[in-house]
Amino acid sequence: MKGKVIINGKELIFEVLRSKRKNITAKIRHDGVVIINAPTSFTVENAADFIKKHHRWLENNFDKAKKQASVEKSYSERSTLHYLGKEYSLRIIQDNINSVDINDNEIIVRCESKDMAEALIINWYNNKAIEKYNELLPPIVEKFKKYNVSPTRVNIRDMRSRWGSCSNKGNISLNLNLVKLPENCIRLVMIHEMCHLIYFDHQDGFHSLMNEMMPDWKFWSKQLAFK
Ligand SMILES: [Zn+2]
Repeated sequence: MKGKVIINGKELIFEVLRSKRKNITAKIRHDGVVIINAPTSFTVENAADFIKKHHRWLENNFDKAKKQASVEKSYSERSTLHYLGKEYSLRIIQDNINSVDINDNEIIVRCESKDMAEALIINWYNNKAIEKYNELLPPIVEKFKKYNVSPTRVNIRDMRSRWGSCSNKGNISLNLNLVKLPENCIRLVMIHEMCHLIYFDHQDGFHSLMNEMMPDWKFWSKQLAFK
């Protein structure tokens, strides 16, 4: 059950989750929607009344939830960034040019306004991923030539739940975020997906080919919890 209520000119969207329970609890999800857990007899009108009664508490928490969401998403000064398995501290400098540079221990973003930093960093990771994957993949593809396989296409994608994938058409996708991990973790995913050009499952044949192509693959798969 969904509904909305206007308090002090502000629209609050709520969702009621009814279950066999006696009490009512409310929380604010990161997107700002108020989630109310309530007994089965609870109605949308009850929910609106409940929110009106507790609006002060909700407003306080609403701001907190919004702040938390923006911290999670944005890259702020001194946060830790990863590149090829190493940690870097982020420095944001206001400047009239936009650039991203890296030295031994810092990633330095110069930008006209600080809210541009995130887009610049994502763009930088993108470029670095293209550069790195173009360097690491060809020698691997070369090693698979003796089996007469090569990827049809290679994509770099920002994937949530996988480091890589291989379609039955032979298209290989590599996660953009792999560029944050050590080079051997990137190689591992590339070799794993290349092995899928020959074996679609993860059975014995697949594993013996992994052993041949990357004898220490088990060690590196532990580094990225990759199966
Ligand atoms: Zn696999």
